[in-house]
Amino acid sequence: MYSRTDTGKVSLTDAEWKKILPKDVYDIAREKGTEWAFTGKYWNTKDKGTYYCAACGNPLFVSDTKFESGCGWPSFYQPVSKTSVIYTPDNSHGMQRTEVQCGRCKAHLGHVFDDGPPPTGLRYCINSVILDFEKAQDAEKKFNEKEK
Ligand SMILES: [Zn+2]
Repeated sequence: MYSRTDTGKVSLTDAEWKKILPKDVYDIAREKGTEWAFTGKYWNTKDKGTYYCAACGNPLFVSDTKFESGCGWPSFYQPVSKTSVIYTPDNSHGMQRTEVQCGRCKAHLGHVFDDGPPPTGLRYCINSVILDFEKAQDAEKKFNEKEK
């Protein structure tokens, strides 16, 4: 099921997800939880690389589009591609927001706001818990090892 190359949609029940995912990932991905600001592992990460969905492996964001928003969560101005994420209106907690979900497995990622920097003017405010980061040089190293 977890794959960084397979783009086939993943559709599991919450009960099935519960068996697969660590509790903290499940709480965000399926229960739409939010980690505390400034506590996640990636809010201040500046390394070059790719952020994948922690539930299914779908590539979501690259470090080139990450910026310092000061909000305490990893913030990006653009997803990897138009189909990386999907959008759903979210009117919970008395706010009108747009929820961002993984385009492959529909895991809850965070929200998107329209106060981001150019070129998109968008701020994707994403929970670290639901991201898996791979540094660019790690990926290169793996590739080189495979070549040998
Ligand atoms: Zn996913």
